[in-house]
Amino acid sequence: MIPIARPVITEEDQARVLEVLASRQLSSGAWVEQFEATFAAYVGARFGIATSSGTTALQAVLEAAGIGPGDRVIVPPFTFVATSNAVVHRGAVPVFVDIEPGTFNLDPNRVEDALRRHRNVRAILVVHLYGLPARMDALCDLARRYGLLLIEDAAQAHGAAFQGRRAGSFGDAAIFSFYPTKNITTGEGGMIITSDEVLARRARLLVHAGAQDGSYEYEVVGYNFRMTNLAAALGLSQLERLDALNELRRQNAAYLTARLQDIPGIRPPVEPPEMYHVYNQYTIRIRERDALREFLAGQGIQTRIYYPRPVPATQAYRSVPYEGGPWPETERACREVLSLPVHPSLCPEDLRRIVEAVRAFADSRAVVQK
Ligand SMILES: *Cc1c(COP(=O)(O)O)cnc(C)c1O
Repeated sequence: MIPIARPVITEEDQARVLEVLASRQLSSGAWVEQFEATFAAYVGARFGIATSSGTTALQAVLEAAGIGPGDRVIVPPFTFVATSNAVVHRGAVPVFVDIEPGTFNLDPNRVEDALRRHRNVRAILVVHLYGLPARMDALCDLARRYGLLLIEDAAQAHGAAFQGRRAGSFGDAAIFSFYPTKNITTGEGGMIITSDEVLARRARLLVHAGAQDGSYEYEVVGYNFRMTNLAAALGLSQLERLDALNELRRQNAAYLTARLQDIPGIRPPVEPPEMYHVYNQYTIRIRERDALREFLAGQGIQTRIYYPRPVPATQAYRSVPYEGGPWPETERACREVLSLPVHPSLCPEDLRRIVEAVRAFADSRAVVQK
């Protein structure tokens, strides 16, 4: 079976984790601090606060930014559920704004419409879905004009760039995830990135039980959202290879796109010239999505649907106050998207098999339709 994701773990990664075990310094410490500083510098921001996951990073950053009950936060409905859950957990109200069909990211025109229509909007929480940055020029401009916080969910976009600037460096703050399907992993893990000193300090307090490292002088009612040294050592080792891993994803994506783009009925992902896509997912559109998915499974090729429903259409959101809609582009994407394997562990033979299988499916359909 060709899996949809497979983290690359080298002997060096393993040695670096064993080093932490040998040190007996298992919770927060020197490795975490080094990972925070190195990753923040990589993104192009001043501060990094490592967390136990991308989800806890989202929760802490919204609380640190002062988002609270009654506030409205603009989010896309086409994302992993953790994005808007963090808004709900703050007692704030998500305002779901539809995506662009090409990039799958927030449509700045619709964001502006929403800003005219909805009261009490405090922030835009933008997602760089699949590793492709959202239109940060237009979104930064809107945030400035309307006096809003701009927070980036860059959980799928380590190393992605817009006009040469890295995802995570545009907003007041950003979050990343190091879950095993992401472009680099620490098992579970996440990071808050910001250049705002006050926000960084508040976020760090929240993540570390409300006190400065090691002290029992509680300044705020905090959490334990800390990353371990074990995770950070793995992250540091992985970070050294991030650009190379992204390059492999891009090469795999280029191979697939060159061979899939002429197949009728299949639309490969796009990479607008001002964007640098890091292909956390390689997501095509096809009308007969479910049939293709089943066909590929029969050929030993694992695929995934990211995401099958708009977040506000899930059962969890039936009892949650939210605003916004309709989301025709999100609904269409939910019916048509299919993510194919693109990860760096694919060999040339895997890539060839994926293309052959998709082509065989398209050929069989063309025969049926004649
Ligand atoms: C993975 C992901 C998260 C959450 O990260 P976890 O580390 O899994 O908690 C949040 N937002 C998006 C868009 C993600 O893809």
